[in-house]
Amino acid sequence: MTFDLTPEQDQLRDAVRALGRRYGHGYFVEKAKAGEHTTELWAEAGRLGYLGVNIPTEYGGGGGGITELAIVCEELAAAGCPLLLLVVSPAIAATVLARHGTEEQRKRHLPGLADGSAKIVFAITEPEAGSNFHRLGTVARRDGDDWLLNGRKCYISGVDEAGHVLVVARTEDSSTGKLKPALFLVPTDAAGLTRSKLDMEIVSPENQFLLYLDDVRVPADALVGESLDAGLPALFAGLNPERITVAAMGAGTGRYAIERASEYTATRKVWGGRSIGSHQGVAHPLAHAAVQVELARLMIQKAATLYDAGRDLEAGVAGNMAKYAAGEAAALAVDTAVQALGGAGMTTEYGVATLLGAVRAGRIAPVSREMILNFVAQHVLGQDKSY
Ligand SMILES: Cc1cc2nc3c(=O)[nH]c(=O)nc-3n(C[C@H](O)[C@H](O)[C@H](O)COP(=O)(O)OP(=O)(O)OC[C@H]3O[C@@H](n4cnc5c(N)ncnc54)[C@H](O)[C@@H]3O)c2cc1C
Repeated sequence: MTFDLTPEQDQLRDAVRALGRRYGHGYFVEKAKAGEHTTELWAEAGRLGYLGVNIPTEYGGGGGGITELAIVCEELAAAGCPLLLLVVSPAIAATVLARHGTEEQRKRHLPGLADGSAKIVFAITEPEAGSNFHRLGTVARRDGDDWLLNGRKCYISGVDEAGHVLVVARTEDSSTGKLKPALFLVPTDAAGLTRSKLDMEIVSPENQFLLYLDDVRVPADALVGESLDAGLPALFAGLNPERITVAAMGAGTGRYAIERASEYTATRKVWGGRSIGSHQGVAHPLAHAAVQVELARLMIQKAATLYDAGRDLEAGVAGNMAKYAAGEAAALAVDTAVQALGGAGMTTEYGVATLLGAVRAGRIAPVSREMILNFVAQHVLGQDKSY
């Protein structure tokens, strides 16, 4: 067992950290408040190869794994730039296409995802179904060689920045008459696809949307994979990378908040010559949060290692646990940091309260803490399902 990164992974970590620090949380917040995107940071990360670290080299990527992509997510977040679209485009969409797309889909889409010139977002959540994906109501029907898609999706991140959206729909399996899931690559400017922006209480340059699909016509080759049988495995292929990278983003955000707070409490003096950090009532909560973040990082490392070793089932358990741990640790770290800074904690200038909405959302999305606890209760503890 080793806890060391390889020299290449170490270099990647240092390089991404340097890039993130050049932009910093001030840039992230400025973009968010102006209603703009982090275009420059995304483009530079793409040019430097960081967005494609997990994409196979034959499609322009770095040929690494989710371990490398988790490093990118964590270090950018630790620099105050938690980019949710890293989880959606390189982690989910690129993995789904690399593992289950047709050769034509891989050649067409992966190079753009690798260099950052293209983004593909992911749409599974629906207003009626919520956490219960068995209730998905978006339906794809054959019409000649084409597919016609109808339905509604909600909270879909980054649709305004992406060329395509990977839509999860149900199709009818003519052999069984059952509706089974399939994934479709739908251009974001397709006729019949409309969107409306949701007002979210999160300071973020990335937006969430309601999507309406009204007779959206896509050609046969928009279906991900060679046949309808690819649907379920393709859908599951995105889950582990999603959980591991979102956990890494949470751990990075937690590190960022604790670092900001520790710098402040080590120098702020309000009782004579002693720093406020010398008071255990201030220092212990920060130390406790630092322990929680470090524990989450260990679980992320375990999950990523298992995933990259092809041990998907074990990675599923570890990835869910890592996501749970990191979601809780990030929320604790940011809240604790705000408290440690006192009034300064609530200012935009000190850059911690700006993360409260994001870390709170991290306990709900992309999978809620309750659904992870359900997963652990059923798959690890052998409990019956109540739902
Ligand atoms: C910032 C943000 C970005 C998002 N981006 C995307 C995206 O890009 N693409 C996408 O498809 N979706 C996205 N989502 C949606 C996200 O995945 C869902 O919000 C999440 O899966 C929860 O679904 P829901 O909101 O419908 O909650 P519900 O399913 O309505 O659940 C509400 C509450 O009930 C709890 N609950 C539900 N069922 C159970 C149960 N059986 N046992 C115990 N508790 C239960 C939940 O944990 C939750 O606390 C995003 C959400 C947010 C907040």
